[in-house]
Amino acid sequence: MRKRELDRYRKLLEQRRAEVVDKAARIAGEGRDTVIQGGEDYVDDAVTNYTREFLLSLSSLEQKRLSMIDDALGRIEDGTYGECEMCGEKIGPARLNAVPWTEYCIRCQEKIEQEGSVEGGAPAPGPRR
Ligand SMILES: [Zn+2]
Repeated sequence: MRKRELDRYRKLLEQRRAEVVDKAARIAGEGRDTVIQGGEDYVDDAVTNYTREFLLSLSSLEQKRLSMIDDALGRIEDGTYGECEMCGEKIGPARLNAVPWTEYCIRCQEKIEQEGSVEGGAPAPGPRR
């Protein structure tokens, strides 16, 4: 991939990264307000607990997204960005524009989603469970 293209994807990734961090910070702030305001009776407690669990699940999703973005930025540095981690083929530019942090080409991604796991094609990335 040309340097100019890499720079463009790097910018895209850094922009997305800033968005996720910003959103996570804002949600964390709102969560604190809810906890402070709630808790007077059982109904408020239930709502507060629900909100807290929602925030927890969301933040782990955001954390995952962040680590994927960081991994992709690392691959830009390594010069392996835009190559499928599974089959080594180049990932299409349309896919990279839509999901710049993706590790897999569309074919491998579909295979992973159909099988429900990465196993059964790629060299084992770690110990089997
Ligand atoms: Zn692939």
